[in-house]
Amino acid sequence: MSDHNWCHGPECHTYTTQSRIRGSGRDKVLRTRKVKIHYSNNNEYLYTWYNFFCDNRCLMDYLRKHMRSVVAHEPRTMPLELPINVTKTTETNWRGNNYTRTNIERVDNT
Ligand SMILES: [Zn+2]
Repeated sequence: MSDHNWCHGPECHTYTTQSRIRGSGRDKVLRTRKVKIHYSNNNEYLYTWYNFFCDNRCLMDYLRKHMRSVVAHEPRTMPLELPINVTKTTETNWRGNNYTRTNIERVDNT
């Protein structure tokens, strides 16, 4: 099992940082960065963005390029809703002033 992925950022190899320079002499290139794979405590592969992208810029480059495909996996044409109960309570802050707190609790329908 490999201990790394190559960064999936489509522009990763174009950013001019020392960490991307490979080669010797006159045969130098900018190369996509390796990304260390993080595992959970029980050694399961973690499907988290930092196992696929070297930094936020590469993640955002990928999302900009593939956003339509990403959201097409779970299209949202209607809003989602969750039943709740809302109550108001009067609380006192650290200065001794009263304020109204809005308490939101999920309604368990099961
Ligand atoms: Zn990258």
